[in-house]
Amino acid sequence: MNKRILITGGAGFIGSHLCARLLSENNEVICLDNYFTGSKSNIMGLLRNPKFELVRHDIINPYNIEVDEIYNLACPASPVHYQYNPIKTIKTSVMGAINMLGLSKRLNAKVLQASTSEVYGDPHVHPQEEHYWGHVNPVGIRSCYDEGKRCAETLFMDYHRQNRVRIKIIRIFNTYGPNMNPCDGRVVSNFIVQALKGENITIYGDGSQTRSFQYVDDLIEGMIRTMNTDDSFTGPVNLGNPDEFSMLELAEKVIALTESKSKIVYLPLPSDDPKQRQPDISLAKEKLDWSPKIKLDEGLLKTIEYFRNSL
Ligand code: NAD
Ligand code: UDP
Repeated sequence: MNKRILITGGAGFIGSHLCARLLSENNEVICLDNYFTGSKSNIMGLLRNPKFELVRHDIINPYNIEVDEIYNLACPASPVHYQYNPIKTIKTSVMGAINMLGLSKRLNAKVLQASTSEVYGDPHVHPQEEHYWGHVNPVGIRSCYDEGKRCAETLFMDYHRQNRVRIKIIRIFNTYGPNMNPCDGRVVSNFIVQALKGENITIYGDGSQTRSFQYVDDLIEGMIRTMNTDDSFTGPVNLGNPDEFSMLELAEKVIALTESKSKIVYLPLPSDDPKQRQPDISLAKEKLDWSPKIKLDEGLLKTIEYFRNSL
């Protein structure tokens, strides 16, 4: 059955892919965004579809609409952008969650929270599974994002327990692909843009820190499968690709795939930068019958192609 679906942060990197996928399945999609880090160019191709609507709105203020499902993605996601105005970042996570949960309560609509692997902080358990409570600095420069997302998870669970709101929480691990903002400082976009421009590739620290990179199409599939589970499944559930790479390995891969002459340079590591990160996706396999399909090289080639055409 076709649904009316609200996507907050719909003009961002992940949101724009989710809008496109849900429209392709004949749903009505309302994309809400304040364009802080998102861009109309990400959703330009969807504007001709009569089932697609755009709303300029800031999620820290209540918003009223009649929908069947809500995907709550509004929040800057890269360290450069979430640290630009940290008070606004935490307000977006916390007040945005309260506003979307209030709306879901009134409508009896399902609501999915885009949480993050950052709730595990700089983890002492490896790989990270959902029962791990994390190792997060509450007063550091990443806290506005990490603690904002942790508080949003708390709100989701409390609205579920207290008011029986139909919630889903996904914890997204590092995701990349077309429509990433080239200026937002995330490692995959930085390295690709630097390689294509022949600039130095900037590794922070010694490059031994690890991340596990998921291509955006795999994430979108996992998000929709999570939303479609029955009400007894709330999550949190990890969505990520368990293939783990060091930042030095990533830099070397990007240089090889772009055939770039760029040189690697080493810059200081930002504080509280997690040393390692890898999802345990056993729960997603069991509950969603989901696992990522796209290997890093394949996803990087698609992303490189996107940046070649858009820079
Ligand atoms: P993004 O910055 O491209 O998208 C976020 C979108 O939210 C942007 O369009 C932005 O303009 C919008 N937004 C920000 N503040 C807003 C506000 N107050 N009101 C309305 N709109 C607002 O980032 P993304 O990578 O697409 O991330 C989407 C979601 O997924 C975020 O919640 C992020 O925390 C989460 N996430 C992403 C990753 C990743 O690797 N990309 C990993 C973990 C979690
Ligand atoms: N990083 C890097 N060079 C860059 C950008 C990031 O070495 O130009 C490192 C960063 O210090 C971190 C990793 O890459 O260790 C992933 O950074 P990103 O901001 O993409 O994601 P997050 O730290 O939030 O996982």
